[in-house]
Amino acid sequence: MKIFDEIESEVQSYARSFPRVFNKAQAEFLYDEEGNRYLDFLAGAGTLNYGHNNPLLKEKLMEYINNDGITHGLDLHTKAKGEFLQTFNEKILKPRGMEYIVQFTGPTGTNAVEAAMKIARNVTGQQNIVTFTNGFHGVSLGSLAATGNSHHRDAAGVSLNGTHRMPYDGYLGEGIDTTAYLDKVLSDSSSGINSPAAVIVETVQGEGGINAATLEWLRNLQTVCRKYKILLIVDDIQAGCGRTGDYFSFEEAGIEPDIITLSKSLGGYGLPFAVVLMKPELDQWKPGEHNGTFRGNNFAFVTAKAAIDQYWSDDRFSNEIKRKGQYISERLNAIVEQYGEGNFTTRGRGMFQGINCINGELAGAITHKAFKKRLIIETSGADDQVVKFLCPLIISDENLKKGVDIVEQAIKEVCAGEESIPAEIDYFDDQEEEQAVNC
Ligand SMILES: *Cc1c(COP(=O)(O)O)cnc(C)c1O
Repeated sequence: MKIFDEIESEVQSYARSFPRVFNKAQAEFLYDEEGNRYLDFLAGAGTLNYGHNNPLLKEKLMEYINNDGITHGLDLHTKAKGEFLQTFNEKILKPRGMEYIVQFTGPTGTNAVEAAMKIARNVTGQQNIVTFTNGFHGVSLGSLAATGNSHHRDAAGVSLNGTHRMPYDGYLGEGIDTTAYLDKVLSDSSSGINSPAAVIVETVQGEGGINAATLEWLRNLQTVCRKYKILLIVDDIQAGCGRTGDYFSFEEAGIEPDIITLSKSLGGYGLPFAVVLMKPELDQWKPGEHNGTFRGNNFAFVTAKAAIDQYWSDDRFSNEIKRKGQYISERLNAIVEQYGEGNFTTRGRGMFQGINCINGELAGAITHKAFKKRLIIETSGADDQVVKFLCPLIISDENLKKGVDIVEQAIKEVCAGEESIPAEIDYFDDQEEEQAVNC
């Protein structure tokens, strides 16, 4: 459609990888204007954990709209907000023994991160926040200072202050515990590292290339934070809401962050919604200090509650994610072994996994080929070198297999420089010849 070239900004990104006009979606499928069906392994970059237009959530939303439920209410107390809080407390926080205050921020992830960093600084009176290599926390100025990616950072136009970067788990190679370095510099008054207010970390770095910290590293990080009385902020915007298998990605590590940010799949239906969870003693906000017109996205409260009721009332859904995650691990390991020629590696946890193809050209050729076979899948990492598997958590076993099969076929063809082989899968359709890329 010409209009996109005519007046839509050059800033668009995903649209460049998948140049179609989409107009319908259901569960793990997207449909373009011509009615072609695509399997969606991007899932709104982790926003559609419960699939597109999940019928169970849609029903509650339609009912709410039909009854003239509040759509916009600033931060007024609404029934929908109250019911969300009730459900979140009863079914998510309490069963996990978690006592947190819930702050509604503007509905984007980056705004939750801004609020989390602000409260940490205000409560401690310290400015510095420790962040990690390859971390991604959003692109507004505060959260951008915590983000590693130079492409995003260079767009800031002003200096990005108040953070200090430390090596993430694995950054210096296997067998090196980078929290030992953090411990060392914090113990040394001449290290040049200002005493921090907080550490902000992703348990699995999504945009940074599906780098999964080990559970031990996360525990060590918490130990260092406690030792120096530094607040631990877990940015669970992409890794949370079930992606790694549990509701929170840090549960498996048994750590207890002081502050948690959630967004992306929190609203459940793809509706914008973000919160900061903080230990009660940290809630030192004065009324309206951090505000925002859209802190009350009541539609998202309705679908967020419905998602929790439906999927998090017991551990069945969590067990399903872990089972599918195990399947993904096995398949990706086998693919890497067969086609990776010792170069490719797998990474991630739960249904948050990827294949590191070493370079962006190769990973891009694979996802491009996959798209021709009607699979939407993206890359991530500093050089876009990681093929990132992020399908909806509710995907059927059959379609999960199909998606992985498509990537496997794409890798095989890219590495061999083969023409696409039509297969029995209905969205395998292509016959384009392409150059071999070194695998
Ligand atoms: C996506 C993301 C953000 C930013 O969320 P936006 O809604 O894009 O502002 C922050 N942190 C993490 C870990 C993310 O994945």
